[in-house]
Amino acid sequence: MNINITDPIFHDEAKALAHLEADRWPDGEPSCPHCGSVRVRRMGGKTQAGMFLCNDCRDKFTVRTGTVMERSHVPLHKWLLATHIMAASKKGMSAKQMERMLGVTYKTAWFLCHRIREAMAGPSTASPLGGPGKFVEADEAFIGGSATNQIVRPVAPKKAIVCLVERGGNARSFHVANINARTLRPLIVTNVDRASNLRTDKARFYIEVGREFASHASVDHRFEYAKGDNHSNTVENFFSIFKRGVIGTYHHMSEAHLHRYTAEFDLRYNTRSMSDGERANVILKGMEGKRLTYRRVGRLAA
Ligand SMILES: [Zn+2]
Repeated sequence: MNINITDPIFHDEAKALAHLEADRWPDGEPSCPHCGSVRVRRMGGKTQAGMFLCNDCRDKFTVRTGTVMERSHVPLHKWLLATHIMAASKKGMSAKQMERMLGVTYKTAWFLCHRIREAMAGPSTASPLGGPGKFVEADEAFIGGSATNQIVRPVAPKKAIVCLVERGGNARSFHVANINARTLRPLIVTNVDRASNLRTDKARFYIEVGREFASHASVDHRFEYAKGDNHSNTVENFFSIFKRGVIGTYHHMSEAHLHRYTAEFDLRYNTRSMSDGERANVILKGMEGKRLTYRRVGRLAA
């Protein structure tokens, strides 16, 4: 299922509403997000489009309630278009470009993009990567801190990203303030099944934690890139896409929001075998049960 941006759901508010309702309540039976009751009725009247009243808790709700779209003034067809654009853009989409494409202000586009990224974040309860006979690669990368303007102003500190990738499976990446054995160990052991074979580079902070796994091997990139199954090509491939996103699209990722950018690139990687339309539906599902308020997202940056 590819994305056809001439589809009325991207232009017609009533069609967008019907699409989102069908997506959230596929059996055609809306349930109250406040109390879970299905004893609800659709309210009439033009100003109440999309509004339901719960007969049990007497509260009102719409398809936006209990999702990252709650309290947003952005029309639903723009939400749908932005979500599909984010799903289809391999290297991401800047708020600046979203502003021009959606005809909204920069501030609106920026906040919209961050709320869609929040929807892209996987559940914190996801089961560990790898398992018996499986290979998980771990690697770190540093972004930012360009020396271009070094003479004019001090170099911005580099930001460290650690990525764990199961070969043929999913990726999970994290922003880590300081990379060392103490910060990496909890991250690796909680996200990777210890029955896995761990593959890393020669960095010393993997030595200790590597002993906790079925096997650990590392390749020294100064001399060789791969020796049989001893390589980290998979995780390097992930980072090459991520870095192209940083350089080509986002230019600068603020430290405070970095975890949302990693969620964005993780999701696109983990749904790489899906069509753009299927990926957009995964993001729409991920909107439920999450909130991101402007106050929480913090000041306008990056
Ligand atoms: Zn209710």
